[in-house]
Amino acid sequence: MDTYENLLAAVTVPGGHAVTDPATDEVIGHAPVATPDDLERVVGAARSAQREWDALGHEERSRLLNAAADAVDRSADALAELISREQGKPLSGRGSRFEVGGVAAWLRTAAATPLEPETVLDDASGSATLRYRAAGVVGAIGPWNWPALIASWQLGPSLRMGNAVVMKPSEHTPLSVLALGEIVNQVLPAGVFTVLSGDRDLGAAMTAHPGFAKLMFTGSTRTGQAIVAASARNLPRLTLELGGNDPGIVLPDADPAAIAEELFWGAFINTGQTCAALKRLYVHDSLHEAVVEALRQKAVETPMGRGLDEQSLLGPLTTASQFDIVDGLVEKAKSAGARVVVGGEPDRAAPGNFYPSTLVTDISADAPLVVEEQFGPALPILRYRDLDEALEQANGLDVGLGASVWSSDPDRARQVAERVEAGTVWVNKHGAVHPMVPFGGVKGSGYGMEFGVEGLKAVAVPQVISS
Ligand code: NAD
Repeated sequence: MDTYENLLAAVTVPGGHAVTDPATDEVIGHAPVATPDDLERVVGAARSAQREWDALGHEERSRLLNAAADAVDRSADALAELISREQGKPLSGRGSRFEVGGVAAWLRTAAATPLEPETVLDDASGSATLRYRAAGVVGAIGPWNWPALIASWQLGPSLRMGNAVVMKPSEHTPLSVLALGEIVNQVLPAGVFTVLSGDRDLGAAMTAHPGFAKLMFTGSTRTGQAIVAASARNLPRLTLELGGNDPGIVLPDADPAAIAEELFWGAFINTGQTCAALKRLYVHDSLHEAVVEALRQKAVETPMGRGLDEQSLLGPLTTASQFDIVDGLVEKAKSAGARVVVGGEPDRAAPGNFYPSTLVTDISADAPLVVEEQFGPALPILRYRDLDEALEQANGLDVGLGASVWSSDPDRARQVAERVEAGTVWVNKHGAVHPMVPFGGVKGSGYGMEFGVEGLKAVAVPQVISS
């Protein structure tokens, strides 16, 4: 798996589902399309493999997870190139090399995180211990924006806790996840981790299948709702990481020059295609023009282009339909009289799904670009005078994944952060996830936590031993 060509050859099949490079529109490979029979076979094999895997114990599973992370490191360049070609993000900056580094880090952290039984009662009345054991087979369904990284978020903790995993990647980015499977399966026992590529029908078949003790889903709120309904009969445990529309609030004491870099990347990382990206920015009136100008400079000086070009720091949108969503939201804002500070004029005739970095201001609080998730490089910047009003708008939507508060006074920022309805509120940064820090949404952004000890507990089943 040392070269891109070898890695691609290992996962592409003649006559499969065509996968295109979003920067050039060229077909780069063909992914297998799993049938219902394939699903039956793979779930059966996973159930058998899971028992032996669980019996290995934490220490041996952790050793194998670390070996899997080493295998990822050895194939890092090839995997990064495949991600860039399939998903679009650049090799450089916070792009595909960064993504592959995250995969190895998440696997290693899942291996290293201790989870000891907890004594919850120990007195004259008796004693009780809470422990966590393997759930069984985990069904994991993923999105297209960070295909390999999010796969590792689902895979590492699930394997560590003694589960087997059957994973369905997004139909837009199957090759990166199939490739990750090829790489880690050089060291994992057969049947413990299987990637089955297919479309949404395969995902729907998985969510109704009785063989899964746990389903982990990362994707849109609408699909999350369908999964809750489809899983009602079998009652697997669920972790749902769904869409967001993260607000950022810039307090009057912030320093626009000091925060511009993190503000920009908070919104534009992966060309805005990140669940917990900054998607609407509320700036105090006194700083509004300075923040807009600082962000405009970042937008102008940050190169966008084909991911394989080393100088690119932003890439195309992964799908043509995502391009249309972003384009439509910006066009509606323009027609309603909002001011486009930079961007907003894509070259529709050029190859690829490139949409330029775009900032829109003087926009109404209920504009579609503000209240709908754009999932792309078009940031609305709203002016506020009264903090209560900004908080009301920030909390006014039915999602709550991430949020951020920007200030030169960390204590003040924390006080404001506590008033924001979101699973994570960052201070002077946005979207920075860490494998030891629990992450999850509230409201329509889903439920269940990933990462750290909480993430291990979430892919296991609790058992109380009471005497
Ligand atoms: P999507 O919901 O359309 O698809 C996600 C996955 O679900 C794909 O693999 C798809 O094939 C599958 N699927 C579709 N219909 C299904 C069904 N009925 N049953 C089971 N599976 C089904 O989402 P997407 O377009 O791939 O991703 C974009 C969305 O994901 C955005 O809204 C984004 O905010 C969200 N997202 C959230 C997180 C997070 O951690 N919260 C991370 C990344 C993306």
